[in-house]
Amino acid sequence: MENFSDIGLRPEIIQAITEIGYEKPTPIQEKVIPAILSTDRDIIALAQTGTGKTAAFGLPLIEKIDPSRKVIQGLILCPTRELGIQIYNDLENYSKYIGGLGITAVYGGASMRDQIRSLRHNCQIVVGTPGRVLDLIERGELDLRSISFLVLDEADEMLNMGFQKDLDAILSTSPEDRQTLLFSATMPQAIARMARNYMRQPEEISVGTRNTGAANVVHEFYMVHAKDRYEALKRIADIHPDIYGIIFCRTRTDTTEISRKLIHDGYNAAVLNGDLSQSQRDHVMEQFRSGQLQLLVATDVAARGLDVNDLTHVINYQLPDELEVYIHRSGRTGRAGKSGTSISIIHTRESRQIRLLENMSGKKFIRKRVPTGEEICERRLYQLVKKVESVEVNEEQIASFLPAINQQLESMSKEELIKRFFSFEFNQFLNYYKNSPDLNIQDNERSSDRSGKKDKISYTRMFINLGEKHQLQPARLMGILNDYVADRRFRIGKIDILRKFSFFEVDSHMAPEILRALKDQEIDGRKIEVDIAKPDQYQSKDTQPGKSHKSEGGNFNRKTGNNRFSEGGGEGRKNKKKNKRVH
Ligand code: AMP
Repeated sequence: MENFSDIGLRPEIIQAITEIGYEKPTPIQEKVIPAILSTDRDIIALAQTGTGKTAAFGLPLIEKIDPSRKVIQGLILCPTRELGIQIYNDLENYSKYIGGLGITAVYGGASMRDQIRSLRHNCQIVVGTPGRVLDLIERGELDLRSISFLVLDEADEMLNMGFQKDLDAILSTSPEDRQTLLFSATMPQAIARMARNYMRQPEEISVGTRNTGAANVVHEFYMVHAKDRYEALKRIADIHPDIYGIIFCRTRTDTTEISRKLIHDGYNAAVLNGDLSQSQRDHVMEQFRSGQLQLLVATDVAARGLDVNDLTHVINYQLPDELEVYIHRSGRTGRAGKSGTSISIIHTRESRQIRLLENMSGKKFIRKRVPTGEEICERRLYQLVKKVESVEVNEEQIASFLPAINQQLESMSKEELIKRFFSFEFNQFLNYYKNSPDLNIQDNERSSDRSGKKDKISYTRMFINLGEKHQLQPARLMGILNDYVADRRFRIGKIDILRKFSFFEVDSHMAPEILRALKDQEIDGRKIEVDIAKPDQYQSKDTQPGKSHKSEGGNFNRKTGNNRFSEGGGEGRKNKKKNKRVH
């Protein structure tokens, strides 16, 4: 492997990166840096976060910029404010021994005046989010006519976040003979189209196989019943007391719900989602980065730009719909040469998705057993024993307290002392896990699931103050439940949509959760009221002129409009005949 001076970087840059601790170029740097330095060709680099992509474009950019020319020469566009700040800090560090080079970061949610001042005062490189960059161009404060380099970082994310129009506008105001460098973790059609429109015969560079994810990430999954998902999460956290990781959920509501439960249950966790204000987000990210928080419950979008290298775990509380999102998530651990574990908590009917992920990524996913309460207690007790064994004793500090302690505990034998010490530490834990059930799904349970044998379930009929008048359809109702209820793998029975309100049946054990999740929510400007329906109120024969719908049970998939999990139960009901369900 080459080193940085072999690939053509000047000594000032090498000195700076050596001080940061970069010894050798990463694979993407090895390919991209010489390509940028030796030609003016446009480049498409397929690289995920964690591969060293910032230095891959940042170092040659700094090398090629002329600090004596007092005009903007390089523009780096990226999807989020956090990533922008990260890139800005990296570039500042890389260029600290190059005199006269000015870098400005521009992004929304911060003072435009300060940014304008910085742009006017010796600025050769601008790092920014598309919205703010365009705003500044339109105000006449940012002139791109002199740029020679344009970097599109995390281009796929910028498109996912709806920046296509802004990008089109920005790209059309910059000189055609610029060198354009496009970095993207994935290569969807829209990126290929962008490359066609705005790049000149780009050279495509990628390292390793596409979409395989980081090499040093172990992939594991735990299979539990949907209702046990949260309990399984807690056990996973308990068996890894030093865990430092991100728990990914699909929706903001899920993240809020799970983090609230974790905090309530005494875990060192916080939420990161789009509902937080910018200063709240900054605060949470800072706490997480500095290690004051162990677990961050986040949506995919909110976690972008969070640059942490030493995560031990990524937990997929729910699997994402797309492989690429899974690869992105899992790539947040196992970075910068460290190893990491990507855990997915799934239920029986998601095992197919695991097989698909395995096939597409070429990685083996290891099925793990959810630890029993006993195993967790045992593991933690032994860890404590080890800690006691290896703890450093500061003789001087403790000496003055020892006589009093010894006197107080004089009557106890060594055995008694050990017993009491560990009980003191562990009583709460032991009590919590006493008689706790095994959460693992046994293989015979799975096969009965597959053979289509229905569980015995009982339904509760619920009221909601939305009806035909509010454009409520069964699919929309299932979508609402999907959006607001954290644990979504519950079954939905019969749905009766009436004019001004509706009724729907859900697994009885989920009724309290649904009440809580929908309480005080506003949907399409209407405050939601939900309640348990009164017995015999509006049974289906009374539902005219509204319609009665037979749900196929399961969970509505927002993307495809299909019911993804088409199993459901039909027993345990009072009036089987009247309420017969179609399956
Ligand atoms: P990135 O993909 O740019 O987000 O970089 C991921 C992490 O790897 C960052 O913390 C970088 O500081 C670090 N990094 C980048 N290049 C190197 C290198 N050549 N050697 C060691 N660490 C690096």
